[in-house]
Amino acid sequence: MGVLERYRSWMDLPAHTEMLSLSEGDTPLIELPRLAEALGGGFTLYSKYEGMNPTGSFKDRGMAVAVGEAKGRGAKAVICASTGNTAGSAAAYAARAGMKAIVLIPEGKVAAGKLAGAVAYGAQVIQIEGSFDQALELVVEISERQPIALVNSLNPYRLEGQKTAAFEICEALGGAPDVLCLPVGNAGNITAYWMGFRQYDKLQGSGLPILLGVQAEGAAPLVLGRRVEDPETVATAIRIGKPARGEQALQAAEESGGRIIAASDEEILTMQKRLAGEGVWVEPASAAGLAGLAKEIQAGRLDVRGKRVVAVCTGHGLKDPDVVTSWMRTPQVIAPTLAALEALMVKC
Ligand SMILES: *Cc1c(COP(=O)(O)O)cnc(C)c1O
Repeated sequence: MGVLERYRSWMDLPAHTEMLSLSEGDTPLIELPRLAEALGGGFTLYSKYEGMNPTGSFKDRGMAVAVGEAKGRGAKAVICASTGNTAGSAAAYAARAGMKAIVLIPEGKVAAGKLAGAVAYGAQVIQIEGSFDQALELVVEISERQPIALVNSLNPYRLEGQKTAAFEICEALGGAPDVLCLPVGNAGNITAYWMGFRQYDKLQGSGLPILLGVQAEGAAPLVLGRRVEDPETVATAIRIGKPARGEQALQAAEESGGRIIAASDEEILTMQKRLAGEGVWVEPASAAGLAGLAKEIQAGRLDVRGKRVVAVCTGHGLKDPDVVTSWMRTPQVIAPTLAALEALMVKC
């Protein structure tokens, strides 16, 4: 079952919205006891592993709904700007719905697994000589001139779909966690989580988490308080200098008693390795939330003792293999003999 089948009655959608699903959502909440211990212990840490969605990122939750709505209103094509995951997701759901997908990506800045996905699902992929932010401006304009549905997170139905992750967390924990940390790029996801938690709290009295949103230092407009013209970070999914939902993200963080901070690329990559060291391999952006959490705990700015903390791990490590293969040493080569293997095993 996908998010529309499970939660449609909790979404604010036009009646014409068509059911569309690749069985997105219902992702695992994985406890990380070793990482919690390494961060000082005395609290429970979970990863909401959104890399387990059909195209490997949380974008699928929103895309099922946004493309279902576009299809129902008779649109023949969808368009988006993307740092990669939105493109793959839009392409997959458009293919599922029998529609055309057009995706604009910043030239040379999209991880291999993401570009391949968009192509595999049959999207028309267009590279622009510019940033994600410029691509977004273009798709907004073209969708106003032509009958092509915009499926970036400016599309409100994306958020209706994405808020379901908050419902799932509350259901799994029997209430809201105390703290939720997550990466922030275009800021649609943090906005959607806050909508979801508030709605669930109204209906079920589940309480509300503190939100800790984390940007990359080289792409931290919400921390700096100004647009970043040339955003740069290894975490390509959050390489965004002018978040479309920046105001709402800041408001959500503030209302929750939390904040939006920045983590360096080094902190993000270190956290990516630590997470993989406990069996959860995510793409760099997905480790940003936890990198920020670690920073806040270590600096004494966040007391998590006795609390339940959920880190949203937004996308799968397989999407961006280059990040790992670029620093790894080539695996050892030996002769295909037992002697050679045994000589090595003695040392391990
Ligand atoms: C899109 C994306 C983000 C950022 O989400 P926003 O809604 O743009 O803030 C973070 N991580 C991954 C893996 C993503 O695909």
